[in-house]
Amino acid sequence: MLKAFGYAAQQSTRRLEPFHFERAEAGAGEIEIEVLFCGVCHSDIHQVKDEWSNTVYPCVPGHEVVGRVRKLGSGAARHRVGDLVGVGCMMDSCRQCAPCKAGEQNYCEGPNSWLATYNGPMVPAEKAPGERNVYGRDNTFGGYSDVLVVPEDFALKIPAGLRPEVAAPILCAGATTYSPLKHWGVKAGQRVGVIGFGGLGDMAAKLAKAMGAQVTIFTRTEAKLAEAKRLGVDAVLGSDLKALAALKASFDLLLSTVPERHDVNPFIPLLKRDCTLVIVGALEPMAPVNQQEVAFHRKSVTGSLIASLAETQEVLDFCAEHRIGPDVQIIGIDEIDEAYDKVERGEVRFRYVIDLASLKAQRE
Ligand SMILES: [Zn+2]
Ligand SMILES: [Zn+2]
Repeated sequence: MLKAFGYAAQQSTRRLEPFHFERAEAGAGEIEIEVLFCGVCHSDIHQVKDEWSNTVYPCVPGHEVVGRVRKLGSGAARHRVGDLVGVGCMMDSCRQCAPCKAGEQNYCEGPNSWLATYNGPMVPAEKAPGERNVYGRDNTFGGYSDVLVVPEDFALKIPAGLRPEVAAPILCAGATTYSPLKHWGVKAGQRVGVIGFGGLGDMAAKLAKAMGAQVTIFTRTEAKLAEAKRLGVDAVLGSDLKALAALKASFDLLLSTVPERHDVNPFIPLLKRDCTLVIVGALEPMAPVNQQEVAFHRKSVTGSLIASLAETQEVLDFCAEHRIGPDVQIIGIDEIDEAYDKVERGEVRFRYVIDLASLKAQRE
C-alpha cells in the first residue's frame, strides 16, 4: 500500500482537517500521480456537507487534479513518467454499457454508474447510511492529497502551453460547460446566454466566445456586471425583468450554471423557437417549468453532466489553442475553510486552486 496524506472531512458538520490514509499501489494499466494542484469546485462543498445525502466519510474532496506521473503499473503505456496529467470527476466506469462503449463514460449505465474520483462509488441518495458502500469497492479519495492512483485512460494529457494550475479547473468547470456547447452545436454568430457567473459561468462564457458566439451573462450580483463586460461579453442583471423582456426570443442556447436549486422560468422566454436551456450547475429538484412557455414554442429544458473523456481532452486542447482558461487564485491547503466560505457566499468568479506543495508543511 501507498502512504497518502491529505485533507478530509470526518463528518458533515466538521471542517476539513489533516488526514493520513493508504491507497492501493498502481495495478495493471494504472498510474501513480504526484498531485501538484487541485481546483476547488462547488461540488466539493456540497459533498463535504452531505448536501446530496450520499457522502461517505471520511471524505477527501478534489476532482480537478493536475499532477506528474510518478510510476507506471504493469502494461501502462499511455503516459510516461514525468508527464503532466489531469484527472477530472471520473476515475473509472463500467466500460461495458452502451454509453461507455460509445465513449460517453459520463452517462455510464453500469450498476454503480461511473466511479467518482472522490466519494465513489456513487450510490443513490435514498440508500440508508449502512448500505452505502457495499458495492465491492472502497470509498475513493480525491485530489486534496499528495498522491492519486487511477486507470491510465482516465488521466488526460495536459497540453504544453497550459499552466498546470490553470488546467486544473478546466477538468470539471471547463468540461462541464464545453460538453453542452458542443452537444448543442454552438456555432459562430449564434447567441448564447450564461446564467450565473461563478467558476462554471466564467468558463462557459469564455468557451462560447472562443467558439465565435455572441455571449450574454446573467448574474444576480450587480458588482459582477463590470467583470463580465471585461470579458468582452454582454451582461444583464438576472432580476431586471425589463431587460429580460427586451431579449425575448433571441437566444440559440441558454446554459444555467447556478450551483443550487433555482427558477429558470424567467429565462425560458429568451430562447428562440426550438431552442434549449441546459442546466449544468444544479443537481437537485428544481422549480416546475412553465409548460405553456415550453410547448408554445417547442423549447427544451434539459440537463448535462460533466463531459466524456474525449470531450475533456478536447476542452483542455481547445483552451491551450485559444489561450483561454479560468482565472485562478492559488491557495495553501490551510486556507481551504476561508475559500469554501467565499465560494458559498457566491463572492468569487475565479477558481481557487490548492497548491499541494502546502501539504508538506502540514505533514511535518
Ligand atoms: Zn466539480
Ligand atoms: Zn458504463
